[in-house]
Amino acid sequence: MLIDGDWLPASDGSTFTTIDPATGTAIAEVARATAPDVDKAVRAAKGALRSSAWREMRPAERGALLWRIADLMTEHLDDLAQLETLDQGKSLRTSRFGEVPAAINQFRYYAGWPTKILGDTIPTSLSRTPPGKEVFAYTRREPVGVVGAIVPWNSPLIMTAMKLAPALAAGCTIVLKPAENTPLTAIYLGQLLQEAGLPDGVVNIVTGYGHDAGQALAEHPDVDKIAFTGSTAVGKRLVQSAGTRLARLTLELGGKSPSIIMPDADLPSAIEGVSRGIFDNGGQVCVASARIYAHRDVYEEVIAGMAATGEGLAMGHGLAAGTDLGPLVSKAQTDRVAGFIDEGRSEGVRVVSGGTRSGDTFYTPTVLTDVTPEMRLMREEIFGPVAVVTPFDDLDEVVGWANDSPYGLAASVWTEGLSNGHRIAAQLEAGTVWVNCHSFLGPELPKGGHKESGWGYENGPQGLENYLETKTVVMVL
Ligand code: NAD
Repeated sequence: MLIDGDWLPASDGSTFTTIDPATGTAIAEVARATAPDVDKAVRAAKGALRSSAWREMRPAERGALLWRIADLMTEHLDDLAQLETLDQGKSLRTSRFGEVPAAINQFRYYAGWPTKILGDTIPTSLSRTPPGKEVFAYTRREPVGVVGAIVPWNSPLIMTAMKLAPALAAGCTIVLKPAENTPLTAIYLGQLLQEAGLPDGVVNIVTGYGHDAGQALAEHPDVDKIAFTGSTAVGKRLVQSAGTRLARLTLELGGKSPSIIMPDADLPSAIEGVSRGIFDNGGQVCVASARIYAHRDVYEEVIAGMAATGEGLAMGHGLAAGTDLGPLVSKAQTDRVAGFIDEGRSEGVRVVSGGTRSGDTFYTPTVLTDVTPEMRLMREEIFGPVAVVTPFDDLDEVVGWANDSPYGLAASVWTEGLSNGHRIAAQLEAGTVWVNCHSFLGPELPKGGHKESGWGYENGPQGLENYLETKTVVMVL
């Protein structure tokens, strides 16, 4: 664990094992934080918030520091990518060319912000202004304080960067709790943060389980804000633990994102886009295109195309050359995915392709049809490579189906018709709507969940807002 600039074991000496999900072999023993460790980390973050080294660092220097972190990550890109793949399972291609560069871009984007955090001057009309005097009123934007950042295992480094970069840009200090399945890239990043010259205590990393370290962080009275990405179930618990003491809370939660393929779509790109949208990273993607609604004119072609795409993906160890799809993150996650498919089979769902488990953690890309609206396969987030494809005839009907979900994270529409693209985008209940693409994400694009997919936004200026408070200063001159 990284606390106040020191690498420490857990206070009670306990550890947990992080494993390579492709082989089940142990990679490393990691310190297992409990409440006393979390308390120490929060105290370090609180101290750093008040320290002159951090508080008085000029905005331009803070920006340069963020840029230096990005440079160091770029220098260590191969190590970070291999570590992410080893610990999480995803293909090295995904880590090396997709996710680690995306994490680096978070730091580069927010490196530009510290010098552009502005308050307002406000003309007032206060009747209490003494005669002959003026009132000068302005706002200051100040860091929200100590941030507890809790991240999931599906894209660990990106999720970490999405919180650290804006929080640091705003001048906050942080206690980061990586997911228990995938702590390694966070630990590696901690070393790079030190090398970049981040003052001690500004970022602290407590590795451990959600129910003890995570909960202790969420409940800690000196944590001013919790920035959480994870499941909706845990998000709702955080509303109890962090929300009841009125800590600021942003929640990036689960999804069951719909994709609508119109009859005028460029079909090869639509099939490729939605296939990648659900099969990449084994479907362990919050915005995965899990529900596909294809117009009846193109339905058979979409099913056949998705099945062929899934069958063409090479499964294997993420580090092996040529691997498209690695294992799922754990045996437990694979049990969960297999359980959904078994349930669907017993309910009469048609398995067009895939639906096969191999070993503890591999699951083939799966295309399902004949799934009815009330089935769990249609309603719940599976977080596996499982696409449910449904035909539609009528536009209003399909928009209704797409919105018939407790989630509202993302959606995509595939059409060559400009008007339909805009119209459907406006009607879909989702934080992000893509037209003729899926999973196009970047630090400049605000991302957040409507409905049960979350509270607040990450990325863009909205992402920075999460880490700022407004203070109004009123002065009689
Ligand atoms: P999870 O909710 O089980 O765990 C997420 C994090 O919370 C982990 O670090 C975990 O240790 C911690 N945690 C668990 N219980 C806790 C508690 N009681 N108090 C505090 N912390 C606790 O989620 P997961 O299985 O790791 O990740 C998958 C989920 O994350 C999916 O639902 C997915 O959709 C979601 N996700 C959402 C986004 C988004 O941007 N909306 C992005 C990625 C993943």
